[in-house]
Amino acid sequence: MLIEKYIDETKQGAVHKGGGCTRNTKKLFLESYGCQMNFSDSEIVVSILNDEGFNTTDNVKEADLILLNTCSIREKAEQTVRTRLSHFKELKRTNPNLTVGVLGCMAERLKAQFLEEEQLVDLVVGPDSYRDLPHLLKEIENGKDAINVILSKEETYADINPVRLGGNGVSAFVTITRGCDNMCTFCVVPFTRGRERSRDPFSILKECKDLWNSGYKEIILLGQNVDSYLWYGGGAKKDFSKASEMQKVTAIRFAQLLGMVAEEIPGMRIRFATSNPQDMSLEVFSKMIQYPNICRYVHLPVQSGSDKILRSMNRQHTREEYLSLIRKARNMVPDLAFSQDMIVGFCGETEADHRDTLSLMKEVGYDYGYMFAYSERSGTPAHKKMTDDVPEEVKKRRLREVIDLQGELSAQRMKSYVGRVHEVLIDGESKKDKDQWKGRISQNAVVVFDKEYDTKLGDFVQVFVERSTRGTLVGKIIEIKS
Ligand code: SF4
Repeated sequence: MLIEKYIDETKQGAVHKGGGCTRNTKKLFLESYGCQMNFSDSEIVVSILNDEGFNTTDNVKEADLILLNTCSIREKAEQTVRTRLSHFKELKRTNPNLTVGVLGCMAERLKAQFLEEEQLVDLVVGPDSYRDLPHLLKEIENGKDAINVILSKEETYADINPVRLGGNGVSAFVTITRGCDNMCTFCVVPFTRGRERSRDPFSILKECKDLWNSGYKEIILLGQNVDSYLWYGGGAKKDFSKASEMQKVTAIRFAQLLGMVAEEIPGMRIRFATSNPQDMSLEVFSKMIQYPNICRYVHLPVQSGSDKILRSMNRQHTREEYLSLIRKARNMVPDLAFSQDMIVGFCGETEADHRDTLSLMKEVGYDYGYMFAYSERSGTPAHKKMTDDVPEEVKKRRLREVIDLQGELSAQRMKSYVGRVHEVLIDGESKKDKDQWKGRISQNAVVVFDKEYDTKLGDFVQVFVERSTRGTLVGKIIEIKS
């Protein structure tokens, strides 16, 4: 179950409940905001704190420790966290032993400033410092505020078994890289998650096999930029040039890793996110042809359809290079689906640039997308060197146009799945009807269908799609895959 890439940043985060040990007496209330990387990190945090005597609770009133895993991608995301923190004021007043902490990208971006600005916060921990949580909690027991926001060139948490907090036992995230070296001018990620480093492929394989052995049927290989995966024995990607000849010859890149996992567990459905057009190789699509368990879906952010804007965003590809990659990929894997990320109203964007974005969307025909108005982030190159000069009402109008167009494109794409049989992995009940299952086709579209033939969560079934709406397919089971 691919969590929507960006949880609505105006809403309260997802509360985690899971794992734990009966001997543990302390209670952890953990809420995650933002992208899948944060959700996956929260599973690492729970694993570390389980060993420190904490079990998770979804009742904040009984918590000894409250942690918010924060997002910094837009101003609104940070405002949501500040509002949420204010809800704990009364709890903190009535329980002085309660510890309140912040994790993730906002913690990394603000560092000690967070402790100054938010009085009830005792603990600030960046994405690469979760191993230090036990020591930091001891600091707090000794009456000190605690902070660790050191970014690492090595840390991948490869040896920590995540405690699964979502995905209902069917689908799970497996993080393969951390950080990003791309420095897109609007983006805070390189400052909040540090330099790119890849995880040992054999620890990834082991985690995938453990998931398969415990009944999971789908994995999502996760990274800010999975196409940049490069294992040469550990360390930052940017130091690859200093590697030995042997390390260079035996280095493992993303397409190889994808093939290794698909080959090792042929029954496991494999997805990956997030891809990057400037680093993506066509070899990924060769692996898709070779291994039917790799899903026919790619989330391929583009951010703008205008070459001028792509240059000022420091995106290392042109409009035509992006479109050519998609054309070649579709020639190799015909039934491939794409989704996008788009930013409207970036510094200097004109109506002509905006029209380029709309025309690119039409040319690709995306299944769906994540579309936002540009939100200036302090510390980014765009903040330092460019002017956020597109008026808010113009941003709003352009965003409306992009979202409306994507709605039309999604409806067309969904129609293209009607009248065909698709393999579907049952990953939950329909939100609207408890007598119906929901699942995803290989192209990631959601389909709902009646519960029949004694089917259950985690089953692969063949579904004939009878009709579609903009966001959902409706079908009928015609066969159960044994
Ligand atoms: S590729 Fe660009 S947008 Fe994506 S995380 Fe890296 S810097 Fe940010």
